[in-house]
Amino acid sequence: MLESILINILFLIFPILIFVIFFDSRRHFYNQTFLVLFSTISMILCMIYPIRLEIGFIFDLRYIPFIIVALYGGYQKVIPLFIVLNMYRFVIGGDGIWQSFLFSTAILLVIPFFHRRFLKANTKKRLSMAVSAALFTMVLYLTTLSTFFEELTREYWALATYSLITHVIIIALNVMMIEKVISNINNRESFLHTERLHVMSELSASVSHEIRNPLTVTNGFLQLLKESKTISADEKVFIDYSLLELERAEKIVSDFLSYGKPQSENMVNSNLKEDMEYVLNILGPYANMNQVNFDFRFSNTLTKKYDQNQIQQSMINVIKNGIESMKETGGTLLITVTEEQRAIVIQVQDHGVGMTSDEILELGKPYYSTKTEGTGLGMLMVYGTISKLKGKIEVVSEKHKGTTFIITLPV
Ligand code: ADP
Ligand code: MG
Repeated sequence: MLESILINILFLIFPILIFVIFFDSRRHFYNQTFLVLFSTISMILCMIYPIRLEIGFIFDLRYIPFIIVALYGGYQKVIPLFIVLNMYRFVIGGDGIWQSFLFSTAILLVIPFFHRRFLKANTKKRLSMAVSAALFTMVLYLTTLSTFFEELTREYWALATYSLITHVIIIALNVMMIEKVISNINNRESFLHTERLHVMSELSASVSHEIRNPLTVTNGFLQLLKESKTISADEKVFIDYSLLELERAEKIVSDFLSYGKPQSENMVNSNLKEDMEYVLNILGPYANMNQVNFDFRFSNTLTKKYDQNQIQQSMINVIKNGIESMKETGGTLLITVTEEQRAIVIQVQDHGVGMTSDEILELGKPYYSTKTEGTGLGMLMVYGTISKLKGKIEVVSEKHKGTTFIITLPV
């Protein structure tokens, strides 16, 4: 019996193993088509090699992959498992096909219902949800099974105990492993992110300043040259191009500069109201130009210490992106500042072009931009500033629907 349990554990670990070896990135995890495929295979293997108890009963662990896919993937992903499970059950034949069908339908209806709640929960909660799901399934199963018995013998109780314990332990083991894999991936990504930010801020502080002076000087001389009467109109065009390019270079440099270390003279302890109003004032004309109007709601009494320039620049970057996302359509950009328990929450919600989940992952990487005029440094600076303030940024976005940036700053 121990052997068959071990071999079943192997089947159940198999999809996780394949994932860790071949698909080790966050992008693949939520895109679980292959997870569904391998879970289906491991479900079939569990059905082919059931666990035989010495007392003459058999039970198998087919519902473990089923529950895991249902919780992590929802209705859509678990339906293939449901179909395969019932097809296979049909091929085996024997008694209880209908009971098995009804039973699996019940499980199919109940467990994926908790999918969204499950994804929102933290690891501990997920573990207890998965264990409860396994317990619920097994209790339901054993209750159905008990109707086949004339009286509940000792063998029945032995079967019940064994299968309950095995299911709970194995599903807990599985979920813990999956959670560990997810947290490793997240840690690695966030480490890379901080590392990148770190390198960028070092670089920006040292290089940008040095570049700015020559740029200004060149700009000045080119302006003078442009006034000269001895050069032809054609040549003036070259100068205009040079000036435009210089302007671009300056834009990039100033994006970099604002990225550097906070300066003590800019530090304030404030509730953000003034800074938000300042930013909205500055961006007013730009919003008008794009048929965007602001809906600004402020209700915050908490204060926080921050570098005014950096916060203003970050808010400009986020709000500017919001405006730019609604370039084609125009509309209202909702900006709210509210308070939570010991945190200030800034939300910027647009109804613009939106992003796919892959695009969201790219946010904040240097030079990532989908705009022809973009520098791809705006969000980098935002992430840098917010992480310095120990805050976090959540992005909720749907393609063609819009994007909401939720920035939480602990106080
Ligand atoms: P830039 O604005 O110069 O392109 P950013 O770092 O500000 O650089 O933004 C990077 C990219 O992120 C943008 O090019 C855009 O594709 C995407 N993005 C940022 N904010 C939004 C938004 N509110 N809606 C849609 N896409 C966005
Ligand atoms: Mg931008």
